[in-house]
Amino acid sequence: MTSAVLERTAAAGAATGADPARIIEIRDVSLRYFTLEGETQALERINLEVAAGEFVSLIGQSGCGKSTLLSLVAGILEPSSGEVRVHGDLVKGPSPRVGYMLQQDYLFEWRTILDNAVLGAQIQGRDLKQARERAAHLLQRYGMGNFLKHYPRQLSGGMRQRVALARTLVTDPDVVLLDEPFSALDSQTRLAIADEVVEALRQEGKSVVLVTHDIGEAIAMTDRVVVLSRRPGRIKSEHLMQFPSCGGRRPSPFEARSLPEFNGYFATLWEELDVHVEG
Ligand code: ADP
Ligand code: MG
Repeated sequence: MTSAVLERTAAAGAATGADPARIIEIRDVSLRYFTLEGETQALERINLEVAAGEFVSLIGQSGCGKSTLLSLVAGILEPSSGEVRVHGDLVKGPSPRVGYMLQQDYLFEWRTILDNAVLGAQIQGRDLKQARERAAHLLQRYGMGNFLKHYPRQLSGGMRQRVALARTLVTDPDVVLLDEPFSALDSQTRLAIADEVVEALRQEGKSVVLVTHDIGEAIAMTDRVVVLSRRPGRIKSEHLMQFPSCGGRRPSPFEARSLPEFNGYFATLWEELDVHVEG
């Protein structure tokens, strides 16, 4: 960020009372869904902050409100009570500064891979030539360089996810929300892509919220793991992922998995998740 941008952000922060270092602020947020069958309290009094450049993961059982929380930050849903701010501004709808990769990939079957990847940039009225270059570059990094002219139906689930990820990053948002971005990848590809993606996001100074049901992924990829309780989702606990054995340096996701701290965090989070096999 240039100093001019920092000053402007600081000024905006002073006007709203918000701290510019806190990119995402979620204050006392509750959300109820209303349907014909009745009412579902999905989230209850969530308080969470994400600092600039921080990577946070959300874990919790299926149905505890993880996707709902991301949709609130993305401006796709409005809280029933409480407030969500990004860069100090109240979230009132989707913003180009926030990139959201949804749990389902929503690729358009009649558009090529490259055309799908530039869709967000196109909707935002960005320079299409530049967007195509960046999209092609990202797709190449994710091993999709030979598929630019293919159509989604010709791709595996894991490949489709990589296209959706490229589409989220083409517009260069500073906040990146990822909802189970690697769930359709096989485990080897998943490790390789996770390293690649985390390195790129860190280099670019993004702030990231990652939803995952994979405890190992949360530990290896993010600085802080937030555990949500069963429905209605509340924040049950938060855990900083620190790796002193790595000499203060942040290990890559791949390295993190072989460090001594990893197993300790895994055991703690497993206990926190309180998984019961029903049957
Ligand atoms: P998660 O991502 O943690 O699995 P969700 O955020 O998708 O959980 O959902 C939280 C709860 O809200 C679930 O019980 C789900 O059934 C309910 N829910 C999600 N979306 C809707 C919706 N559009 N209408 C009604 N209920 C919903
Ligand atoms: Mg979900």
